[in-house]
Amino acid sequence: MEAPNRPRVIVVGAGFGGLNAAKALRHAPVDVLLIDAHNYHTFQPLLYQVATAALDAGDIAHQVRNVFRRQRNVRFRLGRVTDVDYDAKQVVLEDGDRLPYDYLVLANGAVYNDFGTAGVREHAFVLKDLDKAVKLRGHILSRFEAAAVDPTLVDKGALTFVIVGAGPTGVEMAGALVELFQRVLPPEYPELDLRVARVVLVEMGPEVLPPFGQGSRRYAERVLRQRGVDVRLRSAVVSVTADGITLKSGEFIPCQTVIWAAGVRGHPLGEELGVELERGFRVPVEPDLSLPGRPEVFVVGDLAAAKDAEGRLLPQVAQVAIQGGKHAARSIVKRLQGRQAEPFVYRDLGNMAIIGRSAGIAELSRRLLGIRMRGFLGWLGWLFLHLIYLPGFRNRLSAFVSWAYNFFTYDRHARLILAMGPGRGFPLPEEDRPAPAEGEAAPPAAARRARARGTPGEAEPPAAPSTREDALDREAAARAGVPAVAVAAERELVRAGRDR
Ligand SMILES: Cc1cc2nc3c(=O)[nH]c(=O)nc-3n(C[C@H](O)[C@H](O)[C@H](O)COP(=O)(O)OP(=O)(O)OC[C@H]3O[C@@H](n4cnc5c(N)ncnc54)[C@H](O)[C@@H]3O)c2cc1C
Repeated sequence: MEAPNRPRVIVVGAGFGGLNAAKALRHAPVDVLLIDAHNYHTFQPLLYQVATAALDAGDIAHQVRNVFRRQRNVRFRLGRVTDVDYDAKQVVLEDGDRLPYDYLVLANGAVYNDFGTAGVREHAFVLKDLDKAVKLRGHILSRFEAAAVDPTLVDKGALTFVIVGAGPTGVEMAGALVELFQRVLPPEYPELDLRVARVVLVEMGPEVLPPFGQGSRRYAERVLRQRGVDVRLRSAVVSVTADGITLKSGEFIPCQTVIWAAGVRGHPLGEELGVELERGFRVPVEPDLSLPGRPEVFVVGDLAAAKDAEGRLLPQVAQVAIQGGKHAARSIVKRLQGRQAEPFVYRDLGNMAIIGRSAGIAELSRRLLGIRMRGFLGWLGWLFLHLIYLPGFRNRLSAFVSWAYNFFTYDRHARLILAMGPGRGFPLPEEDRPAPAEGEAAPPAAARRARARGTPGEAEPPAAPSTREDALDREAAARAGVPAVAVAAERELVRAGRDR
């Protein structure tokens, strides 16, 4: 319960770092305000399972207010923080509100880094939050619907899925995608030979899964290749377009789906903090995770450039954020008690990844006896650990049931193409519908009305639609009915610039 004159702690971000900072202040004599742009916490390591229809979006997210329903000193505010006013000790929200703090924990996380590669922002998908994972799922499934109606789209890359970056996210996504094509979809697409669907995993470095030991890296690459993933090592992407990607070698791979998993950079809020950023746009921090010269401000998780004893940047992984959030909370309590905050020491628990069904890798740290597991045991270990860390009992139960169901039936129940078109449910008057994109055919009804109004220039649809694929998609949508939703979603995505 909020009490007068208690120090006020603002935590920005309800990801792994912020959530754990707020939880760790449970018994502290402070009032905590947790701010996030979403009203839920996302368990990002499982986003790819939403994108590949293995789990529902609701299985990997948990409402923040529900997390703190029994912690009386925490309040939640839905909003986006755009600035920090150190002199006034206030955070500034997008809507202009200014909220005062005595202590501040910044845990905004990271965004994808396109490394300046042409076309990535416009044409690539990223897996960073839930709505983008749902959009990606809809896009993937809509490619199959489109190819089922018009198999000539396969030659144009409708069923070629390129993943850029062979870190854990890229590898897990590749493994889950091939499984979807090979095991789940074939019985439901009798009109398509799904052996033509392929996943290309493009990696600039010489090996997949760089954070893992050599044995695990080789195992992962072998399994990926055995399962049909086209692994391209030492291959850099120079550009991405709506039709495909171009590699540094000059090779062009026609495809309609590019998933960018090539690395992250600190959240743009870091650039507003008035400090010189470190590598990867990460915010420099003192050993206790406070901002240099600002002992009342802490930065944790992916946003922070926290270092180990040898001065190496800590990895941008969940455990660093979880432990960092807890450490910031402890440091605040120590400051309140007039004691010195201690340096943050990261306790590495190890690495885990799966490459699809029954193939996993677990490399536990020496603290956990240095256990190494590969194959089925590694896969079970991964499932078990993710179930433990997934927030919320309902989510754990639901994920467990879905995984068991998927394992025994080879089915994935979450294969819904959900479009987020304009309007709120009532049919929109044609005038209010978004204008067709440049070069796109005007809707026939609009064209008819324009003709009736005597504006022939507008009335005639342009001779050629923007691309032949667009035309084919529209024809497919008109013939098959259901894919129209997917086509609308697609256009929506393109208009929105496939925002990151
Ligand atoms: C696809 C994917 C797979 C991953 N897999 C693994 C894995 O297997 N193992 C592992 O250890 N790590 C994994 N990671 C990394 C791990 O998820 C991150 O290291 C971790 O989430 C970082 O925690 P954080 O608290 O710093 O940021 P996040 O968890 O990203 O949380 C940031 C929060 O801040 C909020 N926010 C951002 N900006 C604002 C703002 N201006 N105002 C208000 N709120 C804001 C966001 O909405 C979000 O809720 C993965 C990441 C991704 C994207």
